[in-house]
This record gives sequence, C-alpha cells and structure tokens, in this order.
Amino acid sequence: MKNKGNLIVISGPSGTGKGTVCKELLKAQPEIVFSISATTRKPRPGEVNGKDYWFLSKEEFQQMIAENRLLEWAEVYGNYYGTPADKVREVLESGKDVLLEIDTQGALNVQKMFLKEGTFIFLLPPSLAELEKRIRGRGTETEEAIKRRLSAAIEEIPRGNNYDYIITNEVVSDVVNKILHIIEAERCAVYNN
Ligand code: 5GP
Repeated sequence: MKNKGNLIVISGPSGTGKGTVCKELLKAQPEIVFSISATTRKPRPGEVNGKDYWFLSKEEFQQMIAENRLLEWAEVYGNYYGTPADKVREVLESGKDVLLEIDTQGALNVQKMFLKEGTFIFLLPPSLAELEKRIRGRGTETEEAIKRRLSAAIEEIPRGNNYDYIITNEVVSDVVNKILHIIEAERCAVYNN
C-alpha cells in the first residue's frame, strides 16, 4: 500500500480566482500542506513573507535555480516564481497531500515529473468579461499589466485540455466542493495505491 501523499496542482490564467479557491480549500482541509512559492515579485499590501510567498531578490532566486532547489520555476509577467523542491518531496513522503498554486507553464513542467502522483486541476474564469473585472478589481495592476494578463489568459485557456480536471469558477464554494470530492476520490484511486 502507498504511504505517499498526492500532489494537487491548481492552475489556470491569472484572475481566475486560484488564490481564493486555495485559501478556502485549506480552510476546509487544514491537513493539506500548501507549498509556499518563491518569487521576485514585490509583496502586495497585506502579503506576508513565508506565508503568501518567500519574497526573494533576483540574485537569491537565481541562486536557488543554480543549486537545483526548485521543483519548477517560470517567469510570469516579468517576475520569477518557483516551487521549493525539498518541502514538496518531504511532505509527500510523509503521506500528506501537497497543494501547489502555480501558472500553466509551471504546471506543465510538474506534469512531466509527477504525472502519476499529481492531480492537475485547471480553473477557468466564467467569461473573459468577468476575468477582466476580477483583474481590475484587485486594483494592484497598471493598465499595461492588466492588458498583458488578459491577452496571456486568452492564450492559456486551451492549455486546460492537458489537465485531469477543468472547473469553471463561478461560485467559489461550489469549486471548493468539487475539488474536495476530487481529492477524496484520488485518495482511494487504484492507480494511487
Ligand atoms: P501573483 O503575482 O498574482 O501572485 O501570481 C502570478 C502568477 O504566478 C499566478 O498565475 C500564480 O499561480 C503563479 N505562481 C505562483 N507561484 C508560482 C510558482 O511557484 N511557480 C509557477 N510556475 N507559477 C507560480
């Protein structure tokens, strides 16, 4: 029988509500371990180092790449983001599930390494108009950055076909319920045991 946890990867275009969904999911299942990413992006108001992200300088990030300490990394909208490798492996070995909230480039790279152990979930926005509203609603992005995120989102949507599950994020609690059922099913899946 297995003693490893499952790797749950939640991905999708910027503004689909991945962050909110992950927060609610962790409230519902606190035993799932959230992988805190490293990033060179500056913290937004209220974000805490070591809780939301590990906020690093470009040099520190490049050192992590050089030392092979990232499971995957990607450049997203001019900043680097990456998943620290040691923690993910350690938690999976201990039998607990790990949650990654990463962009579609990173998810593709993780898929190459963890196809069997990973559950790949793609979140879709209900519509492009709603996506734009959400990105604007954050109030943290410049007009140029908003346009960049929107056109990237349009390109990213077809990548959903490479995932195990696609969920449209209309109502957060519904999405969380669906993911909880997926996680429950994965824990008893024959191919995971
Ligand atoms: P934000 O700056 O809005 O927090 O995140 C921008 C994008 O980077 C989001 O799509 C988010 O999912 C992604 N992201 C966050 N952490 C990681 C990571 O460790 N690796 C990759 N590849 N993408 C990440």
